[in-house]
Amino acid sequence: MWYICSMTRKKSFLHSQLQVLFRRSHLDDENRIKLEKLSFGLSGEQSFDQIIQTYVQTFNLIHVKDLLFKYDNGEKEIQIDNIVISNDTCYIFEVKKYNFNIKIDERGLFFYEEGKEFTSLNVQIERQKGAIHELLKDIGYPMTIKHYLVFINPDRTVFGLQREHSVLIHNTLHYFLDIHMRKNREDYSYFIPLIDSRRLPFSKYDQFYDIKLKDLAKGIYCETCNGRMQRVTQRTYHCEKCRISIGTLEAVRQLIQDLKFLNPHFKLDSIILSQLSENEISSATIRKYRKEDKIRF
Ligand SMILES: [Zn+2]
Repeated sequence: MWYICSMTRKKSFLHSQLQVLFRRSHLDDENRIKLEKLSFGLSGEQSFDQIIQTYVQTFNLIHVKDLLFKYDNGEKEIQIDNIVISNDTCYIFEVKKYNFNIKIDERGLFFYEEGKEFTSLNVQIERQKGAIHELLKDIGYPMTIKHYLVFINPDRTVFGLQREHSVLIHNTLHYFLDIHMRKNREDYSYFIPLIDSRRLPFSKYDQFYDIKLKDLAKGIYCETCNGRMQRVTQRTYHCEKCRISIGTLEAVRQLIQDLKFLNPHFKLDSIILSQLSENEISSATIRKYRKEDKIRF
């Protein structure tokens, strides 16, 4: 059985960028909290991916992830976590993993547990509905759109939830998907290139940094815990805490990626990369990898 899935779930650009700043530079408290939230949110999206994947495979559905695009004549931009085309209907699943409970009223508006309106969430939902409607119309698929919020954290809940709300929580998600995920009658495979042509590589809110090598912490870092990896042999780096080892090539790829996240336009060379490795990887080795087309910069 084959299935169509656009883009594997990755960290957002901002998420990757904050991670690099965290390990190689400095993060103030506000950004540190932002990074924690993004990591928590990503784990929620990944849990959703695991659940929906079975349906996508079984019914050969279209699943587009993390679509950032412009709408309203290019005036505004928005990101959609999941577009799933199932049963000839466009389902939008906005996945939220919060570590607090929320409330919903009979109009479908969200509130924090203590009573204050959860304005950013309410605004986001309305914008998403409008933007996806416009996008589908633009590319010639004015199909029915159903927007659902998925609260994926099994330890938290939504108070006041009623059947007519377009909200799914951990213990209603499977039941909903069992009923609504169905084979499409029409073929939507050429939907993906059309959608991907609208995908933005960066958000206008992304910022790029001036890179000054002297200000960055050197070395190779663990992608899981952000701790410094130790060079244990000529060709291996190891994180004691996570018990993960990587080879030199992977380490060089990380150096490149880290600098590209800080500034995609920064001009890299083998000497800079070698210095960033704290001279543990020679510039000759880096040039060799580049010649063999194992790395690009
Ligand atoms: Zn680690």
